[in-house]
Amino acid sequence: MTDSYVQIDLSKLKNNASAIISKYPEYEGYIGIIKGDCYGHGMRAVQALYDGGIRYFAVSSLEEAKNVREYLSDVPILYLEPVDKACIDEAAQLGLTLGISDMEHLKCVLSNKTAHCFKMHLQIDAGFNRLGFKDKYEIKQAVDMIGNSQYTLEGMYQHFATAGIFDVHYDNQIRRFKELTSLVDLLKIPMVHLGSGVSLLGHPKIDVANTTRMGLVMYGYNIGPESYGGGIKNKIRTLRDKYYQKKYNLTETIRDVNIDLAPAMSYKCRILQLKDVACGEYVGYNASYKAPSDMTLAILPIGYNNGIGHANYGRVVQIGDKLYPIVGEIGMNMCAVKVDGDVSIDDEVTILGDKITLGRFCRSSGMGLAEALLNIGKNNNRIYVE
Ligand SMILES: *Cc1c(COP(=O)(O)O)cnc(C)c1O
Repeated sequence: MTDSYVQIDLSKLKNNASAIISKYPEYEGYIGIIKGDCYGHGMRAVQALYDGGIRYFAVSSLEEAKNVREYLSDVPILYLEPVDKACIDEAAQLGLTLGISDMEHLKCVLSNKTAHCFKMHLQIDAGFNRLGFKDKYEIKQAVDMIGNSQYTLEGMYQHFATAGIFDVHYDNQIRRFKELTSLVDLLKIPMVHLGSGVSLLGHPKIDVANTTRMGLVMYGYNIGPESYGGGIKNKIRTLRDKYYQKKYNLTETIRDVNIDLAPAMSYKCRILQLKDVACGEYVGYNASYKAPSDMTLAILPIGYNNGIGHANYGRVVQIGDKLYPIVGEIGMNMCAVKVDGDVSIDDEVTILGDKITLGRFCRSSGMGLAEALLNIGKNNNRIYVE
């Protein structure tokens, strides 16, 4: 096969899910975030996550919810975005739990005359300033309105803007959430969920939360904060952190979490051609790379059509055990890599995976972690392995 392909290891997804659940048994519920077509892994991933113990999922479109239903016909699915008026019946048919993000939206759903029996989760905006209620009286009113309707208030949630690693926003959002829900009895609400993966790994459980949401960690990335390491500079940083923690009464940060996660996605291709280039010749578009010596290039079938964007801050690929740099500009479907005598035409090339961690990939491409997974996962053929 000369095309590049994304490989998704389903057993790793399953193991990640069960590793998280056994590491954090203090939660009653775990909501797997599967927006972005399962962060680029494809909806088939839901079955593996379910097998690993995830019993609730959250999507950001009806299309995604439909795709989940092909694998899991009755697992609860939280729809994170306000359902369109025209799609309420469809949402009911799909058996969705509705995320309710403002009073207008709630009224719109309540005014629907068909006798659906939606479960609802109220979204609170405790400082992110995206979706969600921002007024405690309105929140109380919304809770009462749902209580007096045929619907059930099953959950209450909010989303963090920051990881809370020695910034005060995280704690402010927790305080604000408690304030905004102070007129409501949170203990009567079955699912209260405040955090995402990084707060799960990086902080102790939030007292009012009994459920957690997570994305990246399930797909195999330990995004918890690391410790600084040794040296006098890092000692000073650690002291500074302690000082801030005391001064602003910050939640404890948990570093170097030991949890058995393995990335499920890798991205691979084969070499199209090996090419000798003489010292002084130019390579690729805009002749922006001039060979500083005689060299061999491997031409690869990957480019921005495959989610390998233009930005290139010293990108490498892995062939065998070694890393080789991409040289010249990345084209739509091809790029060139400077190789050596250890490489032959049939070798497998790894663009993401093994030694090329997602973090490394992101640093060299200027992408965020989830952004990179989506770019690669959604723009290539996927092969699933068990
Ligand atoms: C994307 C998303 C998450 C998951 O975030 P991760 O950082 O991938 O764990 C959780 N909650 C909401 C509302 C989200 O939109």
